[in-house]
Amino acid sequence: MIAQIIVDVPVNRTNRPFDYHVPPWLRPLIRIGSRVVVPFGPRQLQGYVIGIVEDDQAIPDRSRLKDVVQVQDDTPPLTPELLKMSEWMSKQYLCPWVTAVQAMLPAVLKGKSEKWLTATDALDEEACGRSGLLWELFRKRQLLLTEVEKQFAEEYLLVPGWIQSGLLATEYQVRDKITRKQQSFVRSLLDEGKLEEAIGSLPARAEQMRRVLQLMLMHNEQSLSVQMLRDEYGITRSPLKSLEAKGWIAIEQVEVYRDPYANRRFQDKQKPVFTPLQEEVLTPILQSIESGTYASYLLHGVTGSGKTEVYLEAIERTLEKGREAIFLVPEIALTPQMVERFKARFGADVAVLHSALSQGERFDEWRKIIRKQVKVVVGARSAIFAPFRNVGLIVIDEEHESSYKQEETPRYHAREVALWRAKENQGVLVMGSATPALETYALATRGRYELLRMPERVGNRPMPEVHVVDMREELQAQNRSMFSRKLHEMIADRLAKEEQMVIFLNRRGFSTFVMCRSCGYTMRCIHCDISLTYHKSNHTARCHYCGYTIAQPKHCPECQSEHIRFFGTGTQKVEAELAKLFPGIRVIRMDVDTTSRKGSHEELLNKFRSGQGDVLLGTQMIAKGLDFPRVTLAGIIAADTSLHLPDFRAAEKTFQLLTQVGGRAGRHELDGDVVIQTYTPEHYSIVHATKHDYPAFYQDEMMQRRRTGYPPYFRLVLITFSHEEVPVVIRGAHTMADYLRQRLAQTTILLGPVASPIARVKDRFRFQIMLKYRDEPQLSELLAQATAAFEEWNKQQKVLMTIDVDPYVLL
Ligand code: ADP
Ligand code: ZN
Ligand code: ZN
Repeated sequence: MIAQIIVDVPVNRTNRPFDYHVPPWLRPLIRIGSRVVVPFGPRQLQGYVIGIVEDDQAIPDRSRLKDVVQVQDDTPPLTPELLKMSEWMSKQYLCPWVTAVQAMLPAVLKGKSEKWLTATDALDEEACGRSGLLWELFRKRQLLLTEVEKQFAEEYLLVPGWIQSGLLATEYQVRDKITRKQQSFVRSLLDEGKLEEAIGSLPARAEQMRRVLQLMLMHNEQSLSVQMLRDEYGITRSPLKSLEAKGWIAIEQVEVYRDPYANRRFQDKQKPVFTPLQEEVLTPILQSIESGTYASYLLHGVTGSGKTEVYLEAIERTLEKGREAIFLVPEIALTPQMVERFKARFGADVAVLHSALSQGERFDEWRKIIRKQVKVVVGARSAIFAPFRNVGLIVIDEEHESSYKQEETPRYHAREVALWRAKENQGVLVMGSATPALETYALATRGRYELLRMPERVGNRPMPEVHVVDMREELQAQNRSMFSRKLHEMIADRLAKEEQMVIFLNRRGFSTFVMCRSCGYTMRCIHCDISLTYHKSNHTARCHYCGYTIAQPKHCPECQSEHIRFFGTGTQKVEAELAKLFPGIRVIRMDVDTTSRKGSHEELLNKFRSGQGDVLLGTQMIAKGLDFPRVTLAGIIAADTSLHLPDFRAAEKTFQLLTQVGGRAGRHELDGDVVIQTYTPEHYSIVHATKHDYPAFYQDEMMQRRRTGYPPYFRLVLITFSHEEVPVVIRGAHTMADYLRQRLAQTTILLGPVASPIARVKDRFRFQIMLKYRDEPQLSELLAQATAAFEEWNKQQKVLMTIDVDPYVLL
């Protein structure tokens, strides 16, 4: 028997399966999708079985094949569907196959190849000489080389010599990090009558022992957890030991799942009576679920229109059909509130996967899926790889969110993977958003997805009133504060009424664009129509796409004002200003500083929810999914910050943010106001956000994209190079660019090579090439060939190259 195995060497040269011989004793265990340990060069590595040839007569050279060393699981962690999907991903995203596989599995399953030291027969006390310590250690067991290095630094220096002279042998072993949580339980060994008898026979002072037996009687002889006995009844170990010694109870180790939601109580919620709009969008979705064929929908519904109820209903129907459902939410929106809604509806059928869980917790949730103990998965991006076998429905909430794109290899987009999976399984894909990504909406208007609309809020709640404040006028009126007079007045009003507000600081990445504070003019590239980025070192403003550079002007080219400078402000500054202007105001600040500790995000939100704060102040992270009944004001300090990022999606992101923030106010009984402060009130993203008019924004933005040649009209590939030396990285980039230029279609545009926007990271210089194309059917193959050619050139150079298909981050 021969197994075809992809091995954990994530470079392109090894990006193909290798044949291994399967020794007879492993044959009953090995399956397609198994994790295995195989020899590879001098080491042992982890690998994944992608094929098995029972009859190996036809394989040439089969006697030269090495043996599979170990099969790591009794059930393969990879389903046939996931294997097929990983192969597709490796082609689609030009990543090593094995990295696609690894992205699908919990981190603890990734085995590390480690070097172990074992004593040979030649190693005895005498040979150890003065290091009696090592002799003591090695006599008993193997040691990990890295452990010796860490703990016995002095002895470590001897190790190479000992290996050389044959006293120690080295061996590579692959171990994964799987741990399973065990808990102690006590079980009664007596029947009811005997129990009562035993209780009676105990001396009066054996109070704890009697208590345990009484509890056993009450719980019909079920097992009781030792931890519960301690926490709730203060029962210590020793009475349990005594009972065990008498042969009345057994103390047993039982494996349990680490459940981060174990101590929460979830209320059963009544299903609401659907609104006519909900009925209308549910009809086609439920029909598709009923028919069990592939269909895809874009659900465009304003915030508060009741989308989540639609998803829940669709999931319920899917489960009724005996199929499984995946529900994706952006990491940041995966709040306990959200989880609660699912647990309340589907109880123990739900697994939750997100990055705030420990690796062990994640593994346990994942095992519930592979063991078919749950039917619904709620999770962030990587939950799309849930190892279900019969996916009937995939929902992607807030489908426009950029967190669905993974920014490391494999650079996949969960939306594309979901589409593949829905098609593969004849399942239904529902993507929902109040502000769909332009790419998605464009495909929907062309009929690739069916477009469903919910333009009104549940219960006819009005959309909040939006006030746009022109900050240039504030400056003219001698108001140099970061709060406009309007926002100031409204904050004071809410404080007086004891209502709550969110204040939002629009700040992403480096906000170092150049702007005139008198007229709002910003400097943009004449070729690319994106903002120029200020470079402090030489006082220039530069385009990060094409390299266009000009000197930083001293006066505004539009209005001659001297108030032209780079721009940016922080949450702490806003907090200080609030405290100064409104003495006694209670501000809850949420940013990367205050939320880095595990659980702190939730703590702060609970604090705000329970009314311990007047203002929730923060960045992006407060814009999403939060639902607070008493919030009646949303303020946006500087709407422009995201508008002038060196990113062709800047206007789209601004529109999304303004819409999201606006959606936070007035969701319940109280009416809401939104104040948007801006230096460019005339910009279409702000004008349309004010009117909650997505279609109008879409029209304007599409025109921009067409004019500048960006998605959805063109597709992009970003190729980034890095190296410690500038000349080397430049040569690498040009080698790749030249190869591609000679072979790309006429209509494809190759931009660069230019220095990347972030030109140096960790002392490596970065250059990039951008491809803009409309139709390049052989692109994947061409890029694979180009990569091979590049690697040939790169043998001596060690330039790092990454290829990002449909990139989101262009830095
Ligand atoms: P979205 O996901 O579109 O922002 P939600 O599904 O969260 O909207 O609904 C907004 C609010 O309206 C929630 O508090 C929800 O419980 C409530 N809601 C949704 N559908 C109904 C309905 N049919 N009847 C009454 N309340 C509803
Ligand atoms: Zn100006
Ligand atoms: Zn440019």
